[in-house]
Order: sequence, then C-alpha cells, then structure tokens
Amino acid sequence: MADSELDLKLLETLCNAFGPSGHEHEAQRVARDHGAKYADEVLYDRMGSVIFRRGDTGPKIMLAGHIDEIGFIITHIEKEGFLRFHQLGGIWDQVLLGHEVVIKPSHGEEKIIGIIGAPPPHVLPAEMRNKVFTKDKMFIDIGTSSAKEAEELGIRIGDPAVPHAVFRTMKRKRTEKMDNDDKSEATRDVTLGAAKAFDDRIGVFILLEVLRRLAEEKIDHPNTVYAVSTTQEEVGLRGARTAAQMLLPDVGFSIDVDISGDVPGISGLAQKMGKGVAISAGDSSMIPNPVFRKLVLEIAEEIGVKHQPAFLKAGGTDAGSIHLSGMGAPSIFIGIPTRHIHSHHGILDMSDVEAAVTLLVEVIKRLDEKTVAGFTKL
Ligand SMILES: [Zn+2]
Repeated sequence: MADSELDLKLLETLCNAFGPSGHEHEAQRVARDHGAKYADEVLYDRMGSVIFRRGDTGPKIMLAGHIDEIGFIITHIEKEGFLRFHQLGGIWDQVLLGHEVVIKPSHGEEKIIGIIGAPPPHVLPAEMRNKVFTKDKMFIDIGTSSAKEAEELGIRIGDPAVPHAVFRTMKRKRTEKMDNDDKSEATRDVTLGAAKAFDDRIGVFILLEVLRRLAEEKIDHPNTVYAVSTTQEEVGLRGARTAAQMLLPDVGFSIDVDISGDVPGISGLAQKMGKGVAISAGDSSMIPNPVFRKLVLEIAEEIGVKHQPAFLKAGGTDAGSIHLSGMGAPSIFIGIPTRHIHSHHGILDMSDVEAAVTLLVEVIKRLDEKTVAGFTKL
C-alpha cells in the first residue's frame, strides 16, 4: 500500500471535524458514516464510542483509536464580552497565546471563532514579561463588548471549543542514509501531514483504513475484529474503558500518536517521525504483554514493514484501559511519532501511517485461538 492509497480526504475531514472530550458527536459521525460501509455491524456504548464489528468467530480483537481531541470549555463570560476558559485534556500554556479557537455555542447554529488573548508585554511590569502567562489569566476574544452580546451568539458557560487549524500536506524530498550502511544514501518522497487533532484522529483513521482493507481485499482471518472509535481519552481513557467492558476483548490494540524524539530539546527518546510505526514497550498506563509484543515485532520484521521500538515515561493510551477489562486482555500500543502534539499543529509522516495499517492487517491475519491463548500461558 503506497502513501497515495491512503484516503487523505478522509483524514482531512476527520482532523478538521469538531470534537473535544465529551463533545465528540460531530467528529464521531464522520467516523461512523465512513466505517459503517466496511462493517458487518455498528455498535455503540453509552459513552459515545462507536464500534465496527467484522467477523464473528474466534478471538475478539479490539482496535481502539480515540476520536476526542484536546480542547477547551468556557467557564465564565466577562461583562466586557471576553470569555474565560479551562482545558479539556492537557494543553501547555505556552502554545496558546495569539492562536485561534472555534467555539460551538449550545444556543446558536453557527460556530464562533475567537482569539486567545492576554495583555501585551508593553503594559506588563518588567518582572512579568519573561514569565509564562498561565491560561487562567488568558481570555478568548470573540469581538463582543458585553456578556449580553456573547450570549446572543448562543454562547453559554460549559460550551466546548477546540483549536482552529486546517489540515494540509507538505511534500518534501528527503535524502537519508540507508539502514545498516552508513555510506549509501537514498532519496525518497515524503508526505507530511500538518493538522490539529492528529491526537487521535490518526488512530481512528488507521483503524478505518484497516477495516477498509479487510473488506475490500476480502481478507480471511479467524477472528472477530472490533474497531472502536473511543471517547474521552484525553481526560482519562474513559470511553475505552466502557467499550472494553462491553466487548470483553481477548486482545487489544490502542493506536495513537506517540511523541517524536527528533525535535530540538528532546534527547533520549527512541521513537522518531519517519522511522516507521512505533511498537511501544510501555508507558505509565500499561506494560504490554511481552509474548504478544514479540510476535508483533517478528511480523513487522518478516514482512519488511518499517518499525521502531518506543517507550514513554509519562502518558498513557486507551490500551491502559483495555488491558484491565474483564479478566485482563493482552494489549499493545501502536504509535505514530508526531511532532508538536497537544497544540494547534501536529506534524507526522504518512509513511509511518501506512506502515501501521500494513502491520495491523498482517497481525490480524495471523492471530487465532491458539496464538492468543499462548500470550498468557505460564
Ligand atoms: Zn491520544
């Protein structure tokens, strides 16, 4: 599967869609309408997760990507018309000022674009100019001059907002050293994606692409695949918990962004953008089943999919919830190293995305009752 076979139009629609934690409906409808075409059945939990089932025999394999993105919630409307906000998910104060956000008013039809503001340095006392301005002091300027005017736009306390940014691709030519040979070099065409909400629309995109390939190529496998677009991951892996309790999977995958260790200021992080799909050795939410992980690594080697080991000291993914469901489910986190996550603009390499799709399809083909039972044998 070449980069160009990935449905970039779908990725664009998914990334641009509105859907912070707890308010995922718009983005979730995009995923549901697309995935339904390739599923035997579409199921729902009561936390908003959408579950696409394919097949009905053998071990239950859960693939999870979270549809929610980091966002904001309006906490107060100032009498001068400025909006105060709190975060939904973790977002660093330093990446906010001067950026646009889009608000979905609960009492209005039209979304409203605002700008995150703060007093400019010119008017700040000297000792404050070099300090981080924290988000509790920031406000969203929507151009209104009174609370009444803001309310007339349909905005109320509790309304959700997300970063305002549009998906685009960047095509580059990259000359790199070949593997295991420091002398020869090769040039490849690189397609990077830049967007808000790669965390984790990229995971939802990958599971939808896996679903499409299983259907279009009529791939035979002795398993029941549940591809799940989960909710509320950014506030504590919540939607994956209820979906996994409902499905009681035998095996679980979370597919999510990973942190790319290739930007200035990061050292000691193995996983890097463009170096293949990241096969996680763990994070603060879970330790992958080692037998399962070894099999995934062996399959990646055997079929020649570009892959790399990964580990995160802090942070977790939906696999943190899945592996604790029922009597436990051997699970693993498959990552796409992404630059600038939890900001307005993530950047990732589409060749890593393609590697993840290829690897997941192959692993699904090879899992069966005996192999899955082997993961937990003493
Ligand atoms: Zn995520």
